[in-house]
Amino acid sequence: MHQAVRGMRDILPADTWRWSHLERKLFQRLTGASYSEIRLPLMEFTELFARGVGEATDIVEKEMYTLSDRDGLSISLRPEGTASCVRALEEHGLLYNKTCRTFYSGPMFRYEKPQKGRYRQFYQMGVEAFGFGGPDIEAELVLLITRYFEEIGLNQYLKLEINTLGSHEDRGRYREALVSYLTPFYRELDEDSQRRLLTNPLRILDSKVEKIRDIVSNAPKLIEFVGAHAREHFERFQELLFEMNLSFELNDRLVRGLDYYTNTVFEWVTEELGSQGAVCAGGRYDGLVEQLGGKSTPAVGLAMGLDRIVLLHEKFQGDTGRPSLDIYICILDESKMDRAFFLREVLSDRLPTITIRVHMGGGNLKKQLKRADASGAGWAILHGAEESDEKQLVLKDLRGEKGQMLVSVDELIGTICSA
Ligand code: ATP
Ligand code: MG
Repeated sequence: MHQAVRGMRDILPADTWRWSHLERKLFQRLTGASYSEIRLPLMEFTELFARGVGEATDIVEKEMYTLSDRDGLSISLRPEGTASCVRALEEHGLLYNKTCRTFYSGPMFRYEKPQKGRYRQFYQMGVEAFGFGGPDIEAELVLLITRYFEEIGLNQYLKLEINTLGSHEDRGRYREALVSYLTPFYRELDEDSQRRLLTNPLRILDSKVEKIRDIVSNAPKLIEFVGAHAREHFERFQELLFEMNLSFELNDRLVRGLDYYTNTVFEWVTEELGSQGAVCAGGRYDGLVEQLGGKSTPAVGLAMGLDRIVLLHEKFQGDTGRPSLDIYICILDESKMDRAFFLREVLSDRLPTITIRVHMGGGNLKKQLKRADASGAGWAILHGAEESDEKQLVLKDLRGEKGQMLVSVDELIGTICSA
């Protein structure tokens, strides 16, 4: 038999409800706040990610699925969504002198070591806002995401951490100070950190290696290099979070490695998923649009790992949100099959949110009721039963105490809705 590619999973029919439930809840919330969805290609020119994600990142250095197509062009499966999003909005002239609030959801691809919470095809939901330079938009994003986590019952397992990287110039000065501090430790650094010291030193701050964390603990503090303007921005951001009662912690090691990130960065983390603790990460990236060839545009965004949210939801919320089968229609007279289908249409029109399954494959009533029971449905309609006619249906309560009753369509709807 054939097997799926390592790190790429099937999400089976019995499980997809959770994915769409968790996606839908976020979409509804964002749509309600005037964000619009954007749908982007799964592939882009490799160059876009090299420039837009950054040559010195793990993603571009070693995680991309890159291939040359039949015309010899180098294209890559997208490892994240922000670069494509900027490319698309820029290409269609939607950034210049305009604002844009948008979101996306879909698979991303990274060649990583697969384990629980880390896959090679994984799913992200992302939100991006362009044209807003202030902390107000950052607070709006944090508010929307926090409310989302509350709604899906996961907020108590998540912690929001925030930090500021200062202006572009602040970062530059900090980078120099950090390199001078770390250089004498060069031989003690692990290979990754040695490489990063040359390419992307700020990333060393969030190394997970114990020894590196020790070395870094005495490093100069980023916040001391942050100038007055960026400080004010960060303070206003915190003030807004305070005023809205949104809890957070300062984490001065929280960084995004890339040059085009400035000011605010934030991340929601959990202790419930072992080492795969990052659930949603974001920040301000005022330099990216220009980096990709556009006119300088303030931008802020975030990406959340849907796979990890699904794992948390499964662990703490079980079947919450699972759609149930409401009615199972047993077919006691096969010559009236068409009437049974019509009945389902009538009921579905009247109650669009309920689920109704029509029995297939014949069999006596006992067998059909067994199926109805196993289906999880709350009610059975014994369609074509002798005592029923066009106006009166036999309804059977499969879970409660109501037993079997003869009812009109109106009464049936009333009974089901009041149960
Ligand atoms: P990590 O430190 O876990 O590798 P990252 O910094 O590479 O995360 P981002 O690029 O910021 O992650 O992506 C945002 C979110 O997407 C992460 O917080 C995480 O929830 C999720 N994510 C990233 N890579 C994977 C993966 N390979 N499998 C599942 N989820 C992932
Ligand atoms: Mg990663």
